[in-house]
Amino acid sequence: ESLDKGLEKTKESVLLKLSRVVAGRSKVDDDVLDDLEEMLVTSDVGVETTLKIIGRIQDRVAKEKYLNTAELNGILREEISFLLEESHANNDYTEANSLGEPYVIMVVGVNGVGKTTTIGKLANMFAKAGKKVIIGAGDTFRAAAVDQLVVWAERANVEIVKQQMGSDPASVAFDTLASAKTKNADIVIIDTAGRLHNKIALMNELTKIKTVMKKVIPTAPHEVLLVLDGSTGQNAFEQAKQFTLATEVTALAITKLDGTAKGGVVIGISDQFKIPVRYIGLGEGIDDLQLFDRKAFVDTLFK
Ligand code: GDP
Repeated sequence: ESLDKGLEKTKESVLLKLSRVVAGRSKVDDDVLDDLEEMLVTSDVGVETTLKIIGRIQDRVAKEKYLNTAELNGILREEISFLLEESHANNDYTEANSLGEPYVIMVVGVNGVGKTTTIGKLANMFAKAGKKVIIGAGDTFRAAAVDQLVVWAERANVEIVKQQMGSDPASVAFDTLASAKTKNADIVIIDTAGRLHNKIALMNELTKIKTVMKKVIPTAPHEVLLVLDGSTGQNAFEQAKQFTLATEVTALAITKLDGTAKGGVVIGISDQFKIPVRYIGLGEGIDDLQLFDRKAFVDTLFK
């Protein structure tokens, strides 16, 4: 399956580390737990989330007296599933198209994380599902970003609204939503500039775009999707922190999970920020985006 292949490196790394933790030991004791802790931290699960997982396993050890290391795989699967369930609990995803007005997704994230690519893949995913999609090229600071987005819109065979370089992103958002309303679009995907050099500036810009959107569609944006590059590990945590301080992020897309062993970020970031992971990127192609399936994810890593 494509998930198996996409997560190959993370899976190999996790299973290899786990086999080293378990080697020559039959009982889950403090030494095993210490090594397990190190394994999770070096797998980019994050310190906070790792300590939570270790704490829960310690409780199990205390309660059940004897835990065999052969069970660790299954135990990790259960505990990580539990955390993912918990972090996805406040997942009030309204089924797109049930609103009677265009469903607006505002996409945020720093340059280079795969924002443009993810928008193209998303547009394609919705278009293939029979939705009428319009993209708004709101990253007006990078000429290349607009050009690239035009290419993706063509590939996905969807419309794109753009303005001149340097124009006001909020104005692009306004035009795009107005056009979407007139044309009865189902889905609007608005790109934004990914400059993180100044927190206040970022906050102001995102707030302004949202305010202007509401003039056209009062309930918009219905989703604020933060795109994070999974292969950057701890950097992705830091970006999640900055963006959640700047605006209300409602969902995550974690890209480039293929080709990295750092897939553990998916677990740590969703747990620490309590924001559901909606999509994962598993390649550069237009079809390499998947709706995040937490059960399939955990089953793949801890088979
Ligand atoms: P942006 O600057 O955030 O808009 O980033 P782009 O969408 O231009 O992507 C930056 C690079 O990452 C490009 O070379 C993409 O092909 C690549 N990329 C994006 N998503 C993925 C992914 O899920 N997997 C892999 N392997 N590459 C990706």
